[in-house]
Amino acid sequence: MLLKEKISNHCLVCDEKITGRRDKKFCDDHCRASYHHQINEESNTLIRKMNNRLKKNRSILKKIDDSGEAICSSKQLSLSGFDFSIHTSIYINELGATFYYCYDIGYVSIGNDHYSLVKRNRNFKEKWEV
Ligand SMILES: [Zn+2]
Repeated sequence: MLLKEKISNHCLVCDEKITGRRDKKFCDDHCRASYHHQINEESNTLIRKMNNRLKKNRSILKKIDDSGEAICSSKQLSLSGFDFSIHTSIYINELGATFYYCYDIGYVSIGNDHYSLVKRNRNFKEKWEV
């Protein structure tokens, strides 16, 4: 749990009374280090969890693509544990179709709860393969 910032003359970590400058937040270097370590750990955990979810999404899309299928249903994705709420990028083409990418593999709705898989062209950043 993130330690709450507070305005007082007590250490944010151990609540020890702080002497010295009024803007000091920690009683000593140990408490300062421990505070920043905790904050870094929380963001690292969040980033790691998000990366794992993104990698899982990509792996699900890649598995379908590797099997030779170009189209899949939302049910098929959901049953595999696909998380529709996260992606690495979005591309909207000139016809208004939205492509959701997990790194280099994406999907676009083709209606009727089905998606067409798409791959990003590795050689040309601005060009997209559909
Ligand atoms: Zn302290």
